[in-house]
Amino acid sequence: MKTLGKYSFGLGDRFGHQGSAQLKAIIDAESKGIEITPVWNKSNREHTIIGTVPADVRTEADYVTAKAGFKRPYFVDADHINLDNVEKFIDSSDFFTIDVASYIGKAAGKAETEEFLSSVKKYTGKVTLPGSSMTFKTPGTLIKQVADKYLFAAIKAWEIYRKIEKIKGHDNFVTEVSMDEVAHPQTPVELFFILKMLSAENIPLQTIAPKFSGRFNKGVDYAGDTDKFKAEFEADLLVIDYAIHEFGLPGNLKMSIHSGSDKFAIYPVIGSLIKKYDKGIHVKTAGTTWLEEIIGLAESGGDGLDFAKEIYSGSLKKIADLTAPYADVIDINVSSLPPADEVAKWSSHEFAEALAHNPDNERYNSNMRQLVHVAYKLAADRKDRFYKLLESNEKIISKCVYENIYNKHIRRLFDLE
Ligand SMILES: [Zn+2]
Repeated sequence: MKTLGKYSFGLGDRFGHQGSAQLKAIIDAESKGIEITPVWNKSNREHTIIGTVPADVRTEADYVTAKAGFKRPYFVDADHINLDNVEKFIDSSDFFTIDVASYIGKAAGKAETEEFLSSVKKYTGKVTLPGSSMTFKTPGTLIKQVADKYLFAAIKAWEIYRKIEKIKGHDNFVTEVSMDEVAHPQTPVELFFILKMLSAENIPLQTIAPKFSGRFNKGVDYAGDTDKFKAEFEADLLVIDYAIHEFGLPGNLKMSIHSGSDKFAIYPVIGSLIKKYDKGIHVKTAGTTWLEEIIGLAESGGDGLDFAKEIYSGSLKKIADLTAPYADVIDINVSSLPPADEVAKWSSHEFAEALAHNPDNERYNSNMRQLVHVAYKLAADRKDRFYKLLESNEKIISKCVYENIYNKHIRRLFDLE
């Protein structure tokens, strides 16, 4: 069976040039005693916007791992796929993030609902998580609500899984179910019953990505109550543990956090809780490697800096188009965006410092960072020039990419020196 290691990291590389630099961060973590399975993820949305195909990600992952002599497993994740677009990912991916968000809230059939309700009768009243004092009230009305909200989505997850399994075979891929791109978080008690639903068809579920409280905006820090997140995350860890034993889910089932990258405020919380309970984790980062490419180009000066400025001024003209596909996962305060004529005068450092996520730097602008994060289409429109610049400034860019993954993510999460 294809299994993820205890720790795994989802790496986004939209333009396929930074795989080696990303892998170097994984290899360096291993030398510090933290073995992480690299997973290269790219969503259908990203492929469509850039004009790439899933096979491109496979080619890159195979190439960079072979080049580095990397002998451990690695994966290519068909990120956020659903019934409509899974097909084209099947050949080249061996990790599937089955996104059922759009099916949440739709009603399942009467017979299926009744079958589910009778299968969970014994949990009516209250559920106590073993090994803790945590107890949930679970009146019948609540269980019925959970069924009405999530059972149809679970059935769709089975359906998508079967479609992949039919072509790839049972043991040849990792299955994740995600529900994170929705407006409201799932509570731990909801997660408990969702896992029961997902267990019904013996799907070898290895990771589950719920939506947590707070905002997980792309490329910027967590916005929300850290203590509330901590309590929720801890309860979810215990729920998964209990569900594994109670529902016969795979023993290596673990939490997947679609971090959107850069969740500096909660990485230490996650790190200390998985340590406390000796649990694994999959942390999916977003395509912020693209931001490192722009930062690296800005730092390179000359044509690189001009290109970075051109992307930014172009993004200001197309804010509505560029942000629309990301409405749920960004919060841009337009009035805090620096005007293009001002940015045109910026030096390499001024531009790079505004974009790089160093909260202590007073030039850092999270609004500009989020806008450029979603402006990658503008680079795709200038692909030849962009790729030439990536290649001629490779050294400085790969250093930015590496330091971002290693220092800002891995070190914070695993509390490394
Ligand atoms: Zn996600």
